[in-house]
Formats: sequence, C-alpha cells, structure tokens
Amino acid sequence: MMKSWLTEFARLLALCAPAMILGAVTTHLGWSLLGAVLIFLAYHLGNLYRLQRWLQTDKARKHPPDVGGVWGDLVATLYRESKHRRRLKHRLGHLLDEFDEFTRAMPDAMIVIDEQNVIRWLNEAAASMFELDPHADLGQRIGHLLRQPEFQHFLHQGRYDSTLELSSPQQADIRLSVRIVPFGQQRRLIAARDVSDFFRLEQMRRDFIANVSHELRTPLTVLSGYLESWEEMRVQLPELLRPSLEHMRGQTARMQQIIDDLLTLSRLDSQLARADDYEEVPIPAMVSALKEDAIILGGSAAHVIDTEIDDTLWLRGVTKELHSAMANLVSNAVRYTPAGGRICLRWVRAENGAARFEVSDSGIGIAAADIPRLTERFYRVDKGRSRASGGTGLGLAIVKHVLERHGARLEILSKPGLGSTFSCLFPASRVLQKPIESPTAGSLGN
Ligand code: ADP
Repeated sequence: MMKSWLTEFARLLALCAPAMILGAVTTHLGWSLLGAVLIFLAYHLGNLYRLQRWLQTDKARKHPPDVGGVWGDLVATLYRESKHRRRLKHRLGHLLDEFDEFTRAMPDAMIVIDEQNVIRWLNEAAASMFELDPHADLGQRIGHLLRQPEFQHFLHQGRYDSTLELSSPQQADIRLSVRIVPFGQQRRLIAARDVSDFFRLEQMRRDFIANVSHELRTPLTVLSGYLESWEEMRVQLPELLRPSLEHMRGQTARMQQIIDDLLTLSRLDSQLARADDYEEVPIPAMVSALKEDAIILGGSAAHVIDTEIDDTLWLRGVTKELHSAMANLVSNAVRYTPAGGRICLRWVRAENGAARFEVSDSGIGIAAADIPRLTERFYRVDKGRSRASGGTGLGLAIVKHVLERHGARLEILSKPGLGSTFSCLFPASRVLQKPIESPTAGSLGN
C-alpha cells in the first residue's frame, strides 16, 4: 500500500519537476505548474471514470481495469471483495435451491408462524394438506384459515410437548398428526403429517379387540350360567368335583371381568367425548358411596378408611365413566393394602379453581421404574398378586382414558413398602360449585 502511494508521489514529482524547469526557462512557472497539476488530475479522473464504469457494468464478469498506483490497489481490493461476495452469493443461492427442493420433496406439512400467529412461510405439502395458497396466504393469521376448533384450542394452549390428531379439512378420512415446535425469536413451526395408515391400523386393532370381546361374551355367559346352576346343586355333586367347580367359577368370573374391561376400553377408544353427554356429577356423594364399597370389598382386611370431602365441588362429565375411574383407584388401594392398613379418599379444591380426587394408601407401594408403565394395558407389577386379588391389569388404563376424556390428568406418587397416592386433577373448566346439601359436609372421619 505504501509502495503505491510512493509511486503516486513519484508520478507527481515526475510531472512537476519538468514543469518547474520549463517554467523557469519560460518565466511562466505558474502556468507550467498548473499544466502539470491538470495532467495529474486528468490522469486521476480518467482512472476514476474507468473504475466507475467497471463497477457499474462489468464488475462481476470481466477482469478489472489495468490501472496502477493507488487506483490499482483500490481496484484489486474491490475485485477481491466482489469475487468473495460472488462466491458467497453463489453458495447461498445453491443452499437456497437445495432447501427449496428439500421442502418440496418433504411429505410433511410445515408452516412457520410468528408471535401474532401470522403465516411467514409454508411448504407445498402444507399448501395442499390445508388448502392454503403458498403466496396469497403469507401474512394471514393461521387461525383465520385453519378454523377447526380443536386446532384453534391446541394453538391457543401452546402445548409444545404434545401432538394433536385431527381430520384433514378436505377429506374427513385423512387423519393428520400436528405438532407445534417453537424456535428462533417467537417463531413457531407447525408440522403436520398424514397418519391415516397408522390410524386405520389402530382402528383395526380396536375393532378386533371389541369384536373378540363381544364374541367371547356370549359363550362365557352360557358357561357361567351352567356353573351357577351346578353350584346350586353342589350337594348332589361328587366331593371330588367340588373344588374344581369353585375354581372354574373363579376363572370364568375373571374372564368376564377382563371382557367387561376390554369392552369398556373399546368404548372409551371409539366414542368421541361429546359435550351432550356431560352431566352434572355429584362427586361428593360418589366418594361417600365408594368408601362404603371399599369397606365391603376389603372385608376381613378391615382397613381404616378416611375421607375428606368438599361437598360444594361437583364435576361436569360422564357419571358412569367417572365412577368407573374412581372405583378402579379405590379398588386398587383396597387390593394392594394389607389388612389393617390406612386408606384415605380426598375430594378437594386445588390451585386455580381445579379439583383433585386423591386415593392414598399405606399399602405395598410401587417401585419408581414401574410407575410410568402402570397405565399400559395388562401391565402389572406383580402378576400373581394382581390375579389373586381379582385384577385384570386394565384398571389404570381405563382410569387414564376416562381422565383424558375429561381433560384431567393422573399423578402417581409411591414408595415401595410405604404406600401410594393416585391423584386425578380436574381442570377448573370441569368444576362446578354447588351449595352444601349435607350437614356432614367437609368432615374428616371414617
Ligand atoms: P390390576 O387389575 O392388576 O390392579 P391396574 O391397571 O388397576 O391393574 O393396575 C396396574 C398395576 O399397578 C397393578 O397390577 C399393581 O401392580 C399396580 N398398582 C395399582 N394400584 C396400586 C396401589 N394402590 N398400590 C400398589 N400397586 C398398585
């Protein structure tokens, strides 16, 4: 760089020195110096002009103009920069093309929305899956275009850890699984995929279980009817057959219970929860009745059963389903608590207007590793114990389903040897406030 400046000075000197000599000879020093400076200026203006033309027209393609001195340095720097930028642009363009191809090939729908739920970008699959216009709908609010209430609710809730299944807006038999993933600065990616095949397979599995259960029910009813009649004629049967008869009665009762539970699960699986089915459910009375049932079920085990009931709290829901779920929890507490143990049923207010039904026991407890799997169908920590106590391994699966249908969630706390607490947390939207009806309201006793 220094060198080019020296060249410039040398050039100026080379012009001024002869001009000074000429000026001294001709006694017109001023004019000859002015002439030299003008030549110098013309040289620079010429270079400036060439530089400008190069920048405006040929910069990207042609080689830079061949100029020397400071101009040469300047041109070289600009040329280097422009080459670098051209390469960068090319690479970026290539990347953009690849990204475009990738998003086109993507079978999943992707829509990017901002914090105002305004669509910023979407791919082709999203356009066809949701009938959106990839150009005209940019800048529109997603809620104005995807109007299904369940989607609106899902978007509003902002539950990024769960997926929503819904029917395609165009074809009801196409099932879509939708996820919302937050990223960047208040942006969210709505990703949807076609899960119709998986859904159909699930449907076939459900239908199969429901059909098998239905088919088995009738022959089983016949068998247990015969066994019942034989039971009545017990004294006439040979002594040798009596224990077998008892065993057969026990096993058919167990099979009937399994079939009933499977049918309950299929019903919960296949029927959509409809607002029309919701009634005002008197949970306080239900909990009191469950306590009586628990005493009968416990029989000689003589558990100490406490209750804490807020008589003002009712629920909006399906009575039969809620009873089935709560009864399952109470029955488990009785079956997995040794004789003389304590059981407490609580129906109380929780934070933010929610309500909690809690069954705690001082029973055998559950190891931490088993807790996440308890609501799986037929999952039993101790198969022998479950069977011996009349369990089917389906109780908690039913509880989970019923709670999901009521917008509630199940929490399980347990320590082996110390006992367990199963809590159902019902959201405020389900809770009804009722005037106290019974004088024993809110009592804690047994
Ligand atoms: P089951 O009919 O076998 O009781 P559930 O689905 O109701 O089936 O429960 C699944 C398993 O969870 C049970 O087999 C048992 O091992 C465990 N479990 C459920 N409730 C309790 C409890 N209160 N105390 C200890 N273990 C329990």
